[in-house]
Amino acid sequence: MSNMKHIAVIGAGLGGLAAGSLLQKAGFNVTVYEQSPAFARLGAGIHMGPNVLKVFRRMGIEQQLEDLASHPDFWFSRDGETGDYLSRIPLGAWARKEYGAAYVTVHRGDLQAMQMTSLQPGSVQFGKCLSSVEDSGSDVVLRFQDGSEARADIVIGADGINSKLREHLLGVEAPTYSGWVAHRALIRGEQLRKYNLSFEDCVKWWSEDRHLMVYYTTKARDEYYYVSGVPHPAWDIKGSFVDSSQQEMLETFGHYHPVVQALIECSESVTKWPLLNRKPLPVWSEGRIVLLGDACHPMKPHMAQGAAMAIEDAAMLTRCLTETGLSDYATAFRLYEANRKERASRVQAVSNANTFLRAQEDPAWVYGYDVFAAPLKSEVTS
Ligand code: FAD
Repeated sequence: MSNMKHIAVIGAGLGGLAAGSLLQKAGFNVTVYEQSPAFARLGAGIHMGPNVLKVFRRMGIEQQLEDLASHPDFWFSRDGETGDYLSRIPLGAWARKEYGAAYVTVHRGDLQAMQMTSLQPGSVQFGKCLSSVEDSGSDVVLRFQDGSEARADIVIGADGINSKLREHLLGVEAPTYSGWVAHRALIRGEQLRKYNLSFEDCVKWWSEDRHLMVYYTTKARDEYYYVSGVPHPAWDIKGSFVDSSQQEMLETFGHYHPVVQALIECSESVTKWPLLNRKPLPVWSEGRIVLLGDACHPMKPHMAQGAAMAIEDAAMLTRCLTETGLSDYATAFRLYEANRKERASRVQAVSNANTFLRAQEDPAWVYGYDVFAAPLKSEVTS
């Protein structure tokens, strides 16, 4: 059992909420501080593989998610122009049997709301933008933009790619623009009924230098979603996305299969997101501060595992802190890094290369992983 001290998590993204929930369930006293005044249901979907559903089981939200989400039987990869199948990766019942949990796709706003229900009421504070942090040696002082302060025994930086805590540990450095963008759009399922075409549950359309990932975000198949990956010259990027258009989608994917043309025709609103990156960080923690998720190892999203890695990080960090107790956080942080770095770096490299599941391959190394069952490597042998 931990010493009942206070853990602060900065950022209520998918990684921060998982950390908050799992640490609370392990008996720790946790507050999550989020800069946004409230959550918005932004127009985006997300894949959650069996490796993550096993974590959601511990958080008590696996069934809730299964009830809402779409359950694809396959991940199909298809040639964007001819429609030929490049791979058929079995999911559905196969995933449950081989990897120990379901594979689902869902709206990320719905997922975040569901995660919130697994935290103690009142333990997520909104409108708290961290502006500075001071490790006094005996605790950490957090200062927020609204002038308030908080103290914590340890601080978990789950504050995303522009992490203030990463900056505190390693200095100011903007992320790198990868040279790629992602277009995103949600389509009402009813709009697809007028076509004599088959809209598959989970399909990635590929050509030489671009792709379009498409899937349902609900079990009822009333919301379809696409996200592209397209090379794009840099522009003056302010904010996390800009508006795009049907016209831009036509210019980019006009040579693709008729199914893709139908999706473009049904796109009422399209946004365009720069895909940002960072080189692997030399340290993941210092003193009483530790990083997870995009704050620590951001990646291009082409493997659909970025949030998954943040959630696995949260689970492993909880496991290590439970093992050592909060007062020996230094050992816990070293154990955590020793048990996460190799896997997160491998996923980061494969995701950045955008090769995952393009051809028939066995994804067991990703989906079969169970962060709670994996033997714990000692920090010394890592
Ligand atoms: P974030 O989700 O970025 O959350 C950080 C939180 O910290 C935010 O809520 C932010 O408001 C808050 N914050 C930031 N600064 C402060 C501050 N100073 N004070 C307080 N709060 C702060 N991953 C998947 O697993 N599957 C997918 O299908 C998938 N698809 C993707 C598609 C696209 C186009 C993109 C761009 C990414 C995709 N990802 C996917 C990756 C995934 O979105 C990220 O890896 C994931 O969101 C990282 O989670 P996080 O909790 O580390 O950070």
